[in-house]
Amino acid sequence: MDMLAREIEDFIVQTVTTAGTRTKYRRPLVGFASADDPRWQELRRIAEPSHFLPQDLLPEARTVVAFFLPFAEEIVRANREADGTAPAWATAYLETNALINQIVQELIARLGKRGIRAAGQPATYNWDPVTLISRWSHKSAAAVAGLGTFGLHRMLITDAGCAGRCGSLVIDAEVPPTSRSHVERCLYFYDGSCTYCVDACPVQALRPAPFGQMNLDKWACHAHLRDVVKPQLGADCCGKCAVGPCALASAVK
Ligand code: SF4
Ligand code: SF4
Repeated sequence: MDMLAREIEDFIVQTVTTAGTRTKYRRPLVGFASADDPRWQELRRIAEPSHFLPQDLLPEARTVVAFFLPFAEEIVRANREADGTAPAWATAYLETNALINQIVQELIARLGKRGIRAAGQPATYNWDPVTLISRWSHKSAAAVAGLGTFGLHRMLITDAGCAGRCGSLVIDAEVPPTSRSHVERCLYFYDGSCTYCVDACPVQALRPAPFGQMNLDKWACHAHLRDVVKPQLGADCCGKCAVGPCALASAVK
């Protein structure tokens, strides 16, 4: 493994292992993508025309570092069994956003001491409150960096599942891209045998649809997070669609 890649991965794993959060994690996944990968342009075409390119975050960008912090199984179980969103899930959401921001800031500082420039985006709330459009998607960055593929619930399914959160940053040093596996991880896209996420959504914001078709009513989802969950648990999250058969690993065995 490339030295810089190993150093970045070790730092992320070590930071998560010693985080001191109430939230417990499984081992983080870390991936790398070239800043010149043609799929950054493709994202503009298939996802959001105003999506930033890596060079918009850092003009000298060479590599995008993406990582996924997978929640412990007990958090998934708690959210699966709860009537609404489990308090443990809300805590994990808040603590993990803070941890992602910490990792990115500390990495920027560490790399900076070695003359490597880096830039990031907040773990969340980097979206327009009117359009709900985010101009830098950590999930998409993680997909380009080979960490997973999108499921019917529009979340990234990694080899450690979808229950967790993604972060990313852009650096001006070259790291070899992570090799990507194109295996299907969502059972609905694989053989149509699962609609767990659609059925679990308390506000019917998701519907079955072919891959690539917009099937999430993000306004309905956002309203639920903001008006129902946040007043109860202090966090605008939900995760009821993220605790099915793809929560902890690929759903396709
Ligand atoms: S819950 Fe089922 S249908 Fe939904 S993303 Fe996961 S595997 Fe696909
Ligand atoms: S986060 Fe909750 S409200 Fe939003 S789509 Fe998933 S299950 Fe539905």
